[in-house]
Amino acid sequence: MAVERTLSILKPDATRRNLTGRINAVLEGAGLRIVAQKRLRLTTAAAEAFYEVHRERGFFRDLVTFMTSGPVVVQVLEGEGAVARNREVMGATNPANAAPGTIRREFAESIEANSVHGSDSAENAAREISFFFPEIEIVG
Ligand code: ATP
Ligand code: MG
Repeated sequence: MAVERTLSILKPDATRRNLTGRINAVLEGAGLRIVAQKRLRLTTAAAEAFYEVHRERGFFRDLVTFMTSGPVVVQVLEGEGAVARNREVMGATNPANAAPGTIRREFAESIEANSVHGSDSAENAAREISFFFPEIEIVG
């Protein structure tokens, strides 16, 4: 499998509970390398643009409110099959359905406040990485 990059976000519920280091340890332990990382607070416009694909979903407004409720840590992860590997280690969207040992099972508060985001395809990963990071900030 090829070395890939994927976008990861540690969501406001994770930064609020000071879980940045513990979640990064799980990611690194799963063989994912953090090749770019920064902490920022999403504006409403940025959160709406990032989650544009979900605009018609019933949870869209709440999701934007949640994602702008505190700081996030955005990062680029690199590794063999990084997109799928990160989705695996994140666990199911709803922590109640997430497998033991996954980040969401371990740390998530709810289906909305589920601690992490990860790109769901190579194509979306490329779009999401360029949303946050110029190439010069990604150091493999
Ligand atoms: P993410 O895109 O954050 O990695 P995901 O791909 O597992 O998560 P999506 O279906 O893309 O899930 O939904 C995006 C985010 O919207 C979820 O992570 C969650 O925070 C929120 N969300 C999804 N479904 C619901 C729901 N039914 N109720 C409330 N919030 C939801
Ligand atoms: Mg998604």
